[in-house]
Amino acid sequence: MKGSILTLNAGSSSLKIALFPPGDESPIVTGSAERIGGDCTLTIKDASGAFIAEYKGDAMRGATHETVLRKLIHILQQAGLAQNLVAIGHRVVHGGTDFVAPILVDDAALNQLVSLEPLAPLHQPHNLAGIRAARSAFPDVLQIACFDTAFHRNHPFVNDTFALPLTLYAEGIRRYGFHGLSYEYVTQKLAAIRPELHAGRVIICHLGNGASACAIRDGQSIASTMGFSALDGLPMGTRCGQLDPGVILYLLQQKKMNADAIADLLYNQSGLLGLSGLSNDMRVLEATDDPAAKAAIDYFVFRIRREIGGLAASLGGLDALIFCGGIGENSCLIRARVCDDMAWMGIAIDPQRNAAHETILSAPLSPVEVMMIPTQEDIVIARAANAMMEQVQAQRLRAIGGIPPL
Ligand code: ADP
Repeated sequence: MKGSILTLNAGSSSLKIALFPPGDESPIVTGSAERIGGDCTLTIKDASGAFIAEYKGDAMRGATHETVLRKLIHILQQAGLAQNLVAIGHRVVHGGTDFVAPILVDDAALNQLVSLEPLAPLHQPHNLAGIRAARSAFPDVLQIACFDTAFHRNHPFVNDTFALPLTLYAEGIRRYGFHGLSYEYVTQKLAAIRPELHAGRVIICHLGNGASACAIRDGQSIASTMGFSALDGLPMGTRCGQLDPGVILYLLQQKKMNADAIADLLYNQSGLLGLSGLSNDMRVLEATDDPAAKAAIDYFVFRIRREIGGLAASLGGLDALIFCGGIGENSCLIRARVCDDMAWMGIAIDPQRNAAHETILSAPLSPVEVMMIPTQEDIVIARAANAMMEQVQAQRLRAIGGIPPL
C-alpha cells in the first residue's frame, strides 16, 4: 500500500498543502491559499519552488475552504499527482484531553473533534472543514488527524490548571498549549543533531504570526506560554498575548462590548498590529523608524525575555534556547535583542553566527547553546500519516493471514 501522502493545514483564512512521494520527506508539490473568504489567492509550486499554477482575482473572490481544497485536489488529480495517494494528514488545533497522539479519523472521531469546537472556535471548525472536504474527495484514502495540543498533554498539574474552582478544570478549562507539531519537529531534529541537549533542559521560542515558547525536559513539554486558547502568553501578529482578565470584564461591563467584538479585538486587532497601529508583519516594523513600531518591537522582545526567565525557572536551569518560526528563523534583530544582556542566565549570542542565520548562534563559551532550527510542521504530519498507514497495512495483512513487511 506504499503511496504518496498529502498534508493539509487549514487555518482561519489560509490553507496549506504538501504532497510527499512514498518514503520521502521532501514534498514534490506545495500549495497555499491566502485570504480565504475574501480576496483569495491560490498558489501551487513544484519541488524547486517554481509555479505550477496560480489563481486569483474575481474567480477566487469569496472562495470558501471547501472550494479552495476542491480546486487544489482537482489540480493534483489533473496533473496525475494524486493517483497513488494513500493517506492525508491533517493539522488539527485541538485534541482536548483525550487525543494525545495522531488518530485515524472516522465518523466517531470526527464527532468527538466537533465537540471540541467551542474550545477553539476560530480554528477547529476550519481544520474539520478540511477533513470533511478531503474525506468526500478521497473516500478510500486514510485520513489522519495530528493535534497541536498533543505534545503538551503530559504537563504537570501546576502547568495544566488555572487557579479556578476544580469543577472548571474537570470541564476542560485547562492550559492546553499549542504549536505542538512545531515543537515536536524541532525536538526530533535536536535529538538527531545534538542528543545531549535533547536530553537536557530546552526552551523553544516559536515566533511566527502566532507565537509561543515551550519548556522541554528530556524531550517532554513541561510548560507552555499558551494556555486555554491560542491567545495567551507572548504577543503575536494580531493577538494580545497575556492579558489581565480584569481587562475583559472592563470591556464587557464598562464599555459594553459584546463577546464577538472582544474576540475580534483580542484575536485580530491586538499584538504587533494593535501596538504599532501599522502592521502585524515584523519585516514592516523593523523597516520603519516609526516610534509606535519601535514600541511594539520593544514589547514583543520584553515579553519573550520575561517568559524565557519563567520557563527556565520551571526547568530548573537551561541547556539550550532554540528559535523557530518566521521571525525566529529570519530576524537576527529579534534574536539578538532577546539574547542581549542575558549572560547572567548563561546566554551569549555570537553576532556573526546570528547575522549568518547559522544553526548554532551562541558564542563558543556560552554555557547555554543558542540555536536556530527551521520548523516543518508538515513533515511531522507526514511522518504520523506514514506510521498510521503502515499500522493499518500490517493490520490488514494480519487479518488475511499474510505476513507484515519488516
Ligand atoms: P505563521 O504563524 O502564520 O505560520 P510565520 O511562521 O510564517 O507565520 O511567520 C510570519 C512572521 O515572520 C511575520 O511577522 C513576518 O514578518 C516574519 N518574518 C518573515 N521573514 C522575516 C524577516 N526576514 N525578518 C523579520 N521578520 C520576518
